[in-house]
Amino acid sequence: MTGIKALISGAGVAGPALAYWLARYGAQVTVVESASARRTGGQLIDIRGCGRDVIARAGLTEAVRAARTVADGLSFVDERGRRQASVRADGFGGDGPVTEIEILRGALVEILHEATGNSVEYVFGDRIGALDDRHDGVHVTLEKSEPRRFDVVIGADGLHSGVRDLAFGADGARLRHLDHYLSFWTAQNMLGLRDWTEVYSEPGRTIGARAVDGNTRLMAFLSFRSAPFRYDPGDTTALKAVVRSRAAGMRWYADELIAQLDDAPDFYFDACSQVALPHWSSGRIGLVGDAAFCASPLSGHGTTIALVGAYVLAGELAGADGDIAAGLRAYEDRLRPWITRIQRFGQANGKTMTPRTSAGIAFRRGVVALQERLPIGELLLREQIRMSNGFALPDYTGHERARS
Ligand SMILES: Cc1cc2nc3c(=O)[nH]c(=O)nc-3n(C[C@H](O)[C@H](O)[C@H](O)COP(=O)(O)OP(=O)(O)OC[C@H]3O[C@@H](n4cnc5c(N)ncnc54)[C@H](O)[C@@H]3O)c2cc1C
Repeated sequence: MTGIKALISGAGVAGPALAYWLARYGAQVTVVESASARRTGGQLIDIRGCGRDVIARAGLTEAVRAARTVADGLSFVDERGRRQASVRADGFGGDGPVTEIEILRGALVEILHEATGNSVEYVFGDRIGALDDRHDGVHVTLEKSEPRRFDVVIGADGLHSGVRDLAFGADGARLRHLDHYLSFWTAQNMLGLRDWTEVYSEPGRTIGARAVDGNTRLMAFLSFRSAPFRYDPGDTTALKAVVRSRAAGMRWYADELIAQLDDAPDFYFDACSQVALPHWSSGRIGLVGDAAFCASPLSGHGTTIALVGAYVLAGELAGADGDIAAGLRAYEDRLRPWITRIQRFGQANGKTMTPRTSAGIAFRRGVVALQERLPIGELLLREQIRMSNGFALPDYTGHERARS
């Protein structure tokens, strides 16, 4: 790919991962990020199956394992905090409901940035304003910097992607709402949890907490079922008020966790939506990660598919012999069947996380309790485990430039 100039919009997970692989194959890579610095916020994210393999191929296993949060397992509790059914992380080859590699999103973002070292140019505090795909490349207007020309432009700018809007039009119709909203925030470990997660559900809403940072803090979360409603993603005060009202009256330690919202150093709130696009590219402009195929946090695979997507996209572009549009199509052809399975799983998984009825909550508890006692866990989770590992990573080592 020597001489190919690539622009990536978004320095989250997919952006730096793609930058890493493209630079490794010899491309000249620029990443533009709208935030003024690395956005290291966010709570725990999972790296599963093929995502773990991509991390290994990038030589980052040691760094990721050193930064991961220890997760021994998860219990569903009743309103008095009694553990009713539990699942351990060391079962299911690390790919069960509690993953072997859970890592704070910010830690993964830092590792990926560091891996790109000096080989990638980062432009923070700017964004793409216009794209013009011509015969000689994509002419890019940036909002603050001088216009530039690139051979390929990739949107890795998340669920609400700006590149997707520019390339394919306003995105409303392309988001598939899953009738769930999800919020995370950091709290004091007043539950005394040690490397463990506790989850409490009432019909249509689930609240829980997970010990992080050497058990000094909790990652608290609330999930609730709701038809779509409008909100301003930048208005944290209003969003915290939404969380408070949706958790009102919940039992267990809901009040104590909600009381810590105001002092939380970080806060995440988003609708659980999936991105459904007929194509992930148009000419020399492509998409990867949540921008292209968000499966929603309910799938538990958002980061895994972002990492695998970045790896395959870079490999197919490198193998396309300068035909960027063909490389983008090959990437989609290879990856789409697997992504479709994961998106379907994400649609079904919400029902497990936040059942609508008391009967649904009891059923979930019964199934988890059963797998604790009988050797049927693998059977019950077979589809998820197969799916996490269900993509055969191509070997792109032939595209690597001689590395010193
Ligand atoms: C701050 C933050 C916190 C998150 N916390 C969680 C969490 O707690 N749990 C969870 O399951 N998932 C979380 N996510 C989502 C999760 O990171 C992704 O689902 C997954 O890792 C796929 O990553 P991605 O790189 O495709 O998207 P993202 O990680 O969302 O990264 C997209 C990047 O693009 C940037 N960006 C957006 N618009 C533009 C634009 N117009 N121009 C340039 N840059 C742009 C964003 O600032 C961001 O850095 C969070 C995302 C963000 C941005």
